[in-house]
Amino acid sequence: MNNCIFCRIIRGEIPSEKVFEDSRVVAFHDIMPKAPVHVLVLPKKHISSLTEVKKSDSDLLGEILVRLSDVARKLGIDRDGYKVVINNGEGSGQLVMHMHFHLLGGWARRVEGWKV
Ligand code: 5GP
Ligand code: ZN
Repeated sequence: MNNCIFCRIIRGEIPSEKVFEDSRVVAFHDIMPKAPVHVLVLPKKHISSLTEVKKSDSDLLGEILVRLSDVARKLGIDRDGYKVVINNGEGSGQLVMHMHFHLLGGWARRVEGWKV
C-alpha cells in the first residue's frame, strides 16, 4: 500500500530500528514507546486489521507469534513477562491500518519514569 506508514517502513522509505526481519515478518521498536520495551511485530503483507484476516493467513499469524516470542527472548523480557496487544479498528485506538502486534515489557528493569 503506497501511503501506509508500515509498508513504507518495510520498503525502507522510512527509517526504523528493526529487531527482526525475514521475507514475511518484521519487528521494529515503536517510535513512541508505552513501556520500557515496546516493539511492533507485523506481517510484510498489508492486512489492514484482524477483521480482514482470512483462513489462508493462519500460518502467517502463527509465524508472527513465534517471531514475537523470539524477539521477547532476544530482548531479555521473556522471563519477567510481557503483554501482547492488538488494537483492532479505529474504535479500539488502532491508528495505523496495517495489522500489528504490540509487544510490551521490560518493567522489571525499573526504568526511571515508567509506571505499570
Ligand atoms: P496502533 O494505535 O495503530 O495500534 O499503534 C500504532 C503504533 O505505531 C503506535 O504505538 C505508534 O507510536 C507507532 N508508530 C506510528 N508511526 C510510527 C513510525 O513511523 N515508526 C515507528 N517505529 N512507530 C510508529
Ligand atoms: Zn501496510
